Amino acid sequence: ASAASLALTLTACGQSGEGGSEENKSGSDGATVGIAMPTKSSERWITDGANVEKELKAKGFKTKLVFGEDDPDQQVSQIENMITQGVDALIVAAIDNKSLGNVMQQAKDADIPVISYDRLILGTENVDYYASFDNEKVGELQGGYIVDKLGLKAGKKGPFNIELFAGSNDDNNTRYFFNGAMKVLKPYMDKGQLVVRSKQTDLNQVTTLRWDGGTAQKRMDDLLTSSYRSARVDAVLSPYDGISIGILSALKSDGYGSGSKAMPVVTGQDAEIASVKSIKAGQQTQTVFKDLRELAKVAASMVDAVLNDKKPEVNDTKSYDNGSKVVPAYLLQPVSVDKSNWEKILVDGGYYSADKLN
Ligand code: BGC
Repeated sequence: ASAASLALTLTACGQSGEGGSEENKSGSDGATVGIAMPTKSSERWITDGANVEKELKAKGFKTKLVFGEDDPDQQVSQIENMITQGVDALIVAAIDNKSLGNVMQQAKDADIPVISYDRLILGTENVDYYASFDNEKVGELQGGYIVDKLGLKAGKKGPFNIELFAGSNDDNNTRYFFNGAMKVLKPYMDKGQLVVRSKQTDLNQVTTLRWDGGTAQKRMDDLLTSSYRSARVDAVLSPYDGISIGILSALKSDGYGSGSKAMPVVTGQDAEIASVKSIKAGQQTQTVFKDLRELAKVAASMVDAVLNDKKPEVNDTKSYDNGSKVVPAYLLQPVSVDKSNWEKILVDGGYYSADKLN
């Protein structure tokens, strides 16, 4: 048999070793890709892990998949281990975007290319490509949804009361989401048509460490007590479904969603199953869907290209400066989802089967 067909046969039998030829690290040589995901506590990252493995395996790669339990130190040692084990490339969704400098240097020293997955790794030159969504657009969709739903776009004057929540301060995406939303909300705030009664409007006042729903619930409880005893909250900017669920719990405990006290407009992100159900039930108002099937394809193609000395396809070479370099990126488009289109986007689009959402 030719070397190529032998390699294919071995791969098909699952026996190909680590020793692929150096010139061509395609999957048929048994190259292994290490995948570091941040946590299993949110559905999206479990889906990401599974999708990325599937795409890589379809290209013939072997994979090692690890999850970091939202602990930056644990993630660093997981990546160190994969480097020691001799992976050929890394796909990393960071927990703390600034904590990976040393381990990225180790990857570089071992000649291992790195794809930054969804979240940009900061402060190091040793990141080759970035696969993500248009993160500012995510925020614009959330902010845009609020002004639309409140009728401000159509000419209502308000004033409406709004509170702002942002994601984890160690995640680079957080400021993109927040700035995108504020781009839309700020003009209405400046005109007094949107009022933040708590006066907490700076990003550093509204972040939610590790995107934790419980932390958000506690903050919403406090806001309701301190600023809404004699007023109602009309909208809450929430950056992520897990945070939205926490916010909704606080609102429900305060009587929102029953009697004449309507739920405020509450945004979200990721179209996680619990939140789509909540949207169907008229509780959460909106989420931003990001097609993780597509993101996995982008990341797997990037790995395939770099390991074969080809240039991966990118569509953005200016937006994502990580402090050491502008990382070439492929950005996908997020989609706003609410009661009016969840079925079309998520079910007809083949993302979820209808019974999952019952
Ligand atoms: C991701 C979001 C996700 C959030 C919390 C962000 O970096 O881009 O999709 O909602 O992390 O996991």
